[in-house]
Amino acid sequence: MTNVILLGPPGAGKGTQAKRLVDERGMTQLSTGDMLRAARSSGSEMGLKVAAVMDAGGLVTDEIVIGLIREKLESGESNGYIFDGFPRTLGQADALGALLDQIGQKLDAVISMQVDDSALVRRVTGRYTCANCGAVYHDETHPTKVDGVCDSCGSTNLVRRADDNEESLRHRLMEYYKKTSPLIGYYYAKGDLSSVDALAKVEDVAGAIKDILDR
Ligand code: ADP
Ligand code: ZN
Repeated sequence: MTNVILLGPPGAGKGTQAKRLVDERGMTQLSTGDMLRAARSSGSEMGLKVAAVMDAGGLVTDEIVIGLIREKLESGESNGYIFDGFPRTLGQADALGALLDQIGQKLDAVISMQVDDSALVRRVTGRYTCANCGAVYHDETHPTKVDGVCDSCGSTNLVRRADDNEESLRHRLMEYYKKTSPLIGYYYAKGDLSSVDALAKVEDVAGAIKDILDR
C-alpha cells in the first residue's frame, strides 16, 4: 500500500500522472479539485458556495476540503491513495497527517512536480478534458486524434474548465506561491520529499514517478 501526494502548481500535470497511477496500479485518486467540481455540478449547497471562489482562482476553505478528504478516507478501502491538489495549505497538510494516523496509514512519498512558470500559461490555457472519463488533452501538444472525440472512451463531451483562463491562472499561481509552495519545505523537513522534472514528456515523468514509488 502506497500513499503519495503529487505537489505542484496548476498545469504541472498532477491530474495526468494521477490518472496513470490509477490505470497502472489500481490506486485511488483523491482530487479535491474534481470533488469540488462534482459538488458544483450537482448543485449542492456547498458546491454553489465554492463556485465563485474556484472560478476566480482562489482557494476554498480548509474546513471544506478537509471534510471532503475525511469522508473519502473514512469510507474507503484502497490500494493506496494519490492525493492530487491536496493538501494545498499547511493546515491541510497537518490535517492529512492526523487523518492518515487515525486510519492506521502513513504517507510514503511527496512528489514535487517541477516546472517553469513560463510553461504553465500555455499548458493551462490550451487544456481540455473528457467529461466522461477524465482524459486530459491540449490544443497544441496533445489534441484528440479525431476532432471532438475522446481517444480513450469515444465520448464527445469534451470540456474546458471555467478557471483555465489567463486571469484566473495568475491568481491560482499567486495562491500557489503564497500558500502551497511552503509545503515543499514542510515535506522536505519531514524527509518525505522527492522531485521530478515535470517538463519532461508524459512518459518520462511517469517513469520518474514509478522509480520513486518502487524505491
Ligand atoms: P489546478 O491544480 O489545476 O489549479 P484543481 O483541479 O486541483 O486545479 O483545483 C481547482 C480549484 O479548486 C482551485 O483553484 C481551488 O479553487 C479549488 N481547490 C482544489 N483543491 C483545493 C484545496 N486542497 N484547497 C483549497 N481549494 C482547493
Ligand atoms: Zn473519455
